[in-house]
Amino acid sequence: MCWIWGLPKQAFHRPKLAAFRKNAALSNKKPCDGCWAASICAGGCYHEAGIRQGSLLSPNLHYCQWIKSWIETGLNAYARLSVQVPDFLDNLSMLRGHEPLPESIYKKVSIIC
Ligand code: SF4
Repeated sequence: MCWIWGLPKQAFHRPKLAAFRKNAALSNKKPCDGCWAASICAGGCYHEAGIRQGSLLSPNLHYCQWIKSWIETGLNAYARLSVQVPDFLDNLSMLRGHEPLPESIYKKVSIIC
């Protein structure tokens, strides 16, 4: 298995990188079809897939349960914070130098909910 996307002094070889991205697309990982976690997991880490599955393009099916439980933990924490301490995530984001979210986004969220 040899993947060459470029050399450090010459930057990425854009056509090879583009071909890899196309082949590695989630839509090509059939075992992931219909998985509720796919938009976050996307089949997992390429390097780990190469080591464990023998192909950088394979989904990391060995850790589906693990990644799903972590996503559930994150979603549960997010939901609890949103209800119990609604300003926490905005304040944390601003501590990291991000701009506050515009008020209009809250109107969109309330429409969705
Ligand atoms: S959790 Fe498993 S099935 Fe779902 S996207 Fe990730 S690797 Fe694919």
